[in-house]
Formats: sequence, C-alpha cells, structure tokens
Amino acid sequence: MHLKTAATVLTATLLLSACGGTADGGDAEQAGDRLEVSVGFYPYAFVAERVGGPDVDVVNLTKPGGEPHDLELTPQQVAGLSETDLVVYSEGFQPAVDEAVEQQAADKALDVLTTVELREGEGGQDPHVWLDPVRLGTIAGALADELAELDPDRADAFQERAAALQAELGELDGELRSGLSSCARQEIVTSHDAFGYLAGAYGLEQVSLAGLSPDDEASPGRLAEVATYAQENGVTTIFFEETASPRVAESLAREVGAEAVVLSPLEGAPETGDYVSAMRTNLQSLQTALDCA
Ligand SMILES: [Zn+2]
Repeated sequence: MHLKTAATVLTATLLLSACGGTADGGDAEQAGDRLEVSVGFYPYAFVAERVGGPDVDVVNLTKPGGEPHDLELTPQQVAGLSETDLVVYSEGFQPAVDEAVEQQAADKALDVLTTVELREGEGGQDPHVWLDPVRLGTIAGALADELAELDPDRADAFQERAAALQAELGELDGELRSGLSSCARQEIVTSHDAFGYLAGAYGLEQVSLAGLSPDDEASPGRLAEVATYAQENGVTTIFFEETASPRVAESLAREVGAEAVVLSPLEGAPETGDYVSAMRTNLQSLQTALDCA
C-alpha cells in the first residue's frame, strides 16, 4: 500500500514536471490561463479587446500618444514578443514590428493585410484598412478564428464577440453610408493619404498633402497643387490629424479661405470613447465640411 502510494506520487510528480514551469501555480500559470495578444497600434487593440473580452490580455506596442508609423520598439518589447501568444500587425506599416515579428514571432503572427482587399495608395499598397468599418469587421472575424485555434475551449465566446462587433461596425457603416449619401461636395483634403478606404467606401474623393506616411513632407509644389484643387472645387475644410501639428493645414486653409478641422485617422486611441464613437465624430465633421443633407 505504502509502495503504491509512493509510486502514484512519483508518477504525479513526473507528470507535473512534464508540463514544465506552469505546474507550480506561479505567474506563468495565471498568465497562461488567458491568451496574450500583442498589437501594432490602436485599431487592432480595439478589435482584440472586443473579440478577446476577458479571455485575452492585449498589449499595444504603440504607447498612448505615440505615432504608429515610425514606431521604435525597446529591446524589452522585442524580447516580449517571444512570450506572446499572437501578434496582430500590418506588414509594411511599422518596420520595427515587421522586424520583431520576423525575429521572435514568425509562427504566431496575423498580418491583417492578408485578410482584406487592399487598394493602391500614393506610392504603394495602402495599409489604412481600419478606416473602412466593413473591412475592420472582416479583420475581427479573422482574429476570432485565430484565437479559437489557440484556445478552442473559448472558441464560441470569441466568435460570438466578433459577431457582435461586426454588427456594431455594420451599423456604423450604415450611418456613414446614409450620412454621406447626399452632400453638396465629395472632395476631402487631408494631411496624409490615410482615408482612401473611407473615401472609396462612401463615394468621396480624397486629396492628401502627404503620402501614405505622415512623415512625407508636402513639397511646395504639392501645396500649390492642392490649393488650386481646393479652390476649384469650393473646398471649405482642410482636414488635419489630432496627433500632428495643424500648422500646414492652417496656412493652406487661410490661403484658400477654408477652415482647418480635425479628421481622425484613428492611428492612436481617441481621447474619449472608442473607434466607433470617434468614427461618428468623423462623420459629423465630414457632413459639415461637405454640406450634406
Ligand atoms: Zn497613416
């Protein structure tokens, strides 16, 4: 009897050791209970939080107030990716994240740009897919599939939350569609080429001062071109981004007799509310600028 008990204890100990460091009930086990998802920047943090709910810890690699295009990662952030369960990123959008994924997480990364149809922007493939709520819904579905594969016990919860988010994004799409359907103008002048998907989805025409990255400085020639375009099309509003200096937009607005107003590309978290409420604010700004019924 004693021998049998000893053998059972021994077997149990071996089994526990075989499970590795998680068997001691320490931090690893608690963290292991929830998936950790690392995301490149805000819109995918929003989606991961909504689809993952309480079952997922979301780590946003772009700190609050940071500009995601030219993100730099600390060595700790890069090393941390080897521990994370999934990285959600956009290949080509944040070179530092591309590199870190290649080094640390090549086998556990979801490139959102592989899940939706892409457009060509000023000087390459346009990564700003999240500004079309329908595409963002598609990405939510792809993320739910990935999470379900990683944690099959919670697959139903991930799929249900993704469906709820898709319904909410579908409603937002309907509001944008009807809100922008009868406007006096369709032309929007923006700081960088971020709104191509939004423009494409709702019949607008975007002209941007800079290219796909806000770092591309608008040349004097480009400024003159856009000023002429704005005057010819009766543009009343020059849009700029909340995270960038309004200086260029304000001087262009003065030159053409327009107003400089914020249109958020949602590259960082909004100060209040979330993606959906910030897009509703964007809709109001567009309706005023374009004289919509
Ligand atoms: Zn951008």
